[in-house]
Amino acid sequence: MMKKLLLAVLLVVPTLVTFAQRKRAAANSKAAETTTVTDSAAWRAERYVINRDSAYADPRVGLRKLMGGNRRFVEGKSIRPRQDYNTLKQLENGQAPFATIVGCSDSRVPNELIFDQGLGDLFIIRTAGQVSAAASYGSMEFATLKLKTKLIVVLGHTECGAVAAAVSNPENPPGHIVTLINDIKPAVKKSSHQMGDRVQNAVRQNVIEQVNNLRELEPILAKKFADGEILIVGAVYDIHTGKVEFIPETLNNLPQPKQKS
Ligand SMILES: [Zn+2]
Repeated sequence: MMKKLLLAVLLVVPTLVTFAQRKRAAANSKAAETTTVTDSAAWRAERYVINRDSAYADPRVGLRKLMGGNRRFVEGKSIRPRQDYNTLKQLENGQAPFATIVGCSDSRVPNELIFDQGLGDLFIIRTAGQVSAAASYGSMEFATLKLKTKLIVVLGHTECGAVAAAVSNPENPPGHIVTLINDIKPAVKKSSHQMGDRVQNAVRQNVIEQVNNLRELEPILAKKFADGEILIVGAVYDIHTGKVEFIPETLNNLPQPKQKS
């Protein structure tokens, strides 16, 4: 009897040990995988994986977070952060997006994908040619005042149909499309003397004009921008490469935040 019991123990115990070891090894290898891909300090620093609280607190950090996310997207190394059920539950009671994106409705420019961000990260306003009217302005002001989002990015894109339509200058645009075209026309005119592709030049100029308009938009954005409380910058997404180019003219001479006394 004792012999049989001893035999059973000898057979079962090693099996249990092996099972436990295998389980631990699997867990370790999973941890190692996570460590090497997203948790290595060097990898994170190189790809600007910045925690979202810092990005929310400081728009300059938020800008770097967007640049880093786009770099990951372009390199095929998207980490798709905060796109899970846990994040969904964390956000049940409120949102604190670190950037407002004013972009084009074009289906080839999905903001969370191209910036590799997740749930609750981006407050997005999209119209064709990212043309803004009262409702768009109200949305931006809501994000600035109520959600305390400090970064606004106007995001145009290459091969924009709305800008191309404005460049082609049709005689009687149907329906409300005329609103879009009229809004983009000043940028078309301003860029008409530039060398190179007319549409791409107008795309870029349109973003610059829109950034300037928002920086002067009374009564909320103009003051907050002048006081250095919020940042308003412009960028162009290249639908051929996936790369977002932040326009240098919109990054220069930005007002500095005032020292709090
Ligand atoms: Zn477009």
